[in-house]
Amino acid sequence: MGVSVKKRICILGSTGSIGVQALQVAAAHSDKLQVVGLAAHSSKDMLVSQAQQLDVDDDACCLTARDGMDALLRLIDSTQPDIVLNALVGSAGLRATVATLQAGLTLALANKESLIVGGNLVMDLAATGGGQMLPVDSEHSAIFQCLQSGDVPALRTIWLTASGGPFRGKTREQLAEVKAADALAHPTWSMGPKITVDSATLMNKGLEVIETHHLFGTSYDDIKVLLQPRSLIHSMVEFVDGSTIGHLGIADMRVPIQYAFSYPERWPAIADLSIDYRQLEGLELGAPDTETFGCLDLAFQAGRSGGTAPCILNAANEVAVAAFLQDQISFLDIEALVASALDHFTGQIEPLESIEQVEVLDVSVRTHVANLL
Ligand code: NAD
Ligand code: MG
Repeated sequence: MGVSVKKRICILGSTGSIGVQALQVAAAHSDKLQVVGLAAHSSKDMLVSQAQQLDVDDDACCLTARDGMDALLRLIDSTQPDIVLNALVGSAGLRATVATLQAGLTLALANKESLIVGGNLVMDLAATGGGQMLPVDSEHSAIFQCLQSGDVPALRTIWLTASGGPFRGKTREQLAEVKAADALAHPTWSMGPKITVDSATLMNKGLEVIETHHLFGTSYDDIKVLLQPRSLIHSMVEFVDGSTIGHLGIADMRVPIQYAFSYPERWPAIADLSIDYRQLEGLELGAPDTETFGCLDLAFQAGRSGGTAPCILNAANEVAVAAFLQDQISFLDIEALVASALDHFTGQIEPLESIEQVEVLDVSVRTHVANLL
């Protein structure tokens, strides 16, 4: 009789939206998964109760607000997991992405910002460190799965789907009036505050375009954003022979999270996630409104500029979104601040050379944008 070996997983950002759903997946598949480490920023009570429920040692739990980021990096080292789920938010996740890949471990990547900022440096580490990167972002998990039916050289176009967010159909005049509370009511996905605002500005899709470029080596000309308000198609891949393979399913992040844990296997879903496709009427496909939502084009621009440009885009966006969430600036100011930062730093865009380089730039852009508030 074969003894099944459990995959050891370490969850960074366990108290967040992705982290909590990852723990649900782990609990439902406790015969196959063992949580060996937990890290979060400041929700101590929640972290302690998660550790008790999943039987994680006290010294395998880390609160970065108290213990610092170095403790989180030591956690990756000391727990020796098979898989690290990086579900931190923002470029603060970069060090964890780097440390995981340097250690030759499998990185289940939800923290897209670390790939936006680290770009080729992160991809090179994934290629040379002996580790592996598995996308958790639903669209990228979908693309990764679609690509299993054809080779990257045979790929013609990636159709990256977008819900359009809660403000789809609004005019610039209407957008000028929306508040954080309005943005936080996303129609199809329930997510953390930062990515929810990014979905409303379409910056999330912009970041995902850059994420797609890096993960699959796709040129920006071959990535097309497809509006799909019901979030049933999670993305599609069109091959040179005219075949298009799509990934469909209910909008539930536990599906891509579980796939990153189960890969290359498939395990039963932890809830009833089937769809009666006979009941679907019209998928309402279309093009995103890039005139009204300027952030998508800004991200395409930064991606095409390459090098440190996406780091500038991301840092400016993080500061602007935090200010919008505190009702300090208007919704349209987010786009204006990102555009102004890209403009201001345009002479300083350089090829990516080191993690230290992007960390220094990240801080200067943040300081610059904070002074504009
Ligand atoms: P969230 O805000 O709900 O949770 C973030 C987690 O990271 C929390 O546990 C928090 O304590 C921790 N954290 C925040 N700042 C930290 C710091 N400086 N140091 C250490 N820990 C810190 O965010 P989320 O919605 O779960 O998103 C996490 C990541 O996953 C983001 O990069 C997001 O873009 C990506 N993502 C999320 C979803 C989703 O459905 N929520 C979907 C796709 C991708
Ligand atoms: Mg996504």
